[in-house]
Amino acid sequence: MDKEVMYQLSYGLFVLTSAAGGRESGCIINTACQVTSQPNRISIAVNKANFTHGLVKESGQFNLSILSQSAGFDTFRHFGFQSGRETDKFAGYGACRRAANGLYYVTEGTNGVISARVEQSLDLGSHTLFIAGVEDLKLLSGEPSATYAYYQAHIKPRPQAPAASGGKTVWRCKVCGYVYEGEELPEDFICPLCKHPASDFEKVTL
Ligand code: FE
Repeated sequence: MDKEVMYQLSYGLFVLTSAAGGRESGCIINTACQVTSQPNRISIAVNKANFTHGLVKESGQFNLSILSQSAGFDTFRHFGFQSGRETDKFAGYGACRRAANGLYYVTEGTNGVISARVEQSLDLGSHTLFIAGVEDLKLLSGEPSATYAYYQAHIKPRPQAPAASGGKTVWRCKVCGYVYEGEELPEDFICPLCKHPASDFEKVTL
């Protein structure tokens, strides 16, 4: 079985925003797609560990801001590499507006926003798959959307070149580029930047 085939799947990148119980937050997801056109429905799969997951589950509504190629790494860091449990991601955050449904969407580095209401949800263990009816659509720019491959090639920071290349072995996070220095990466290691597990690291020799 060629496990790397899973990396050949293409994905978009999105900021999922929602609110419930007086709390508002957003997170980065790469799992949104249109599933029916009449009526217009999309699906999103959201990791239950994300604070925003609970907000979508509770309120049954969300906005999906589609990230474009002009999105900076700061946007990914802001929405992806910190938790809404500890941080109010919209406090002092200027690049957002409220859609007709009252929820925030992201206005910079995005090319469109989909407002949707959850119709069905399926418990998938680590994730919930939400099927949602599209209630509103707003075009924000004509820029191409950022795919996950584009993020990997152009948005994620390049690892810093070593001062002197001496065949040093490090482990690099494939998601955000964080470098762990050491021959062996602990199995339970969690990336301090993006919180992805050790399985998302690759061994590289500088
Ligand atoms: Fe990382």
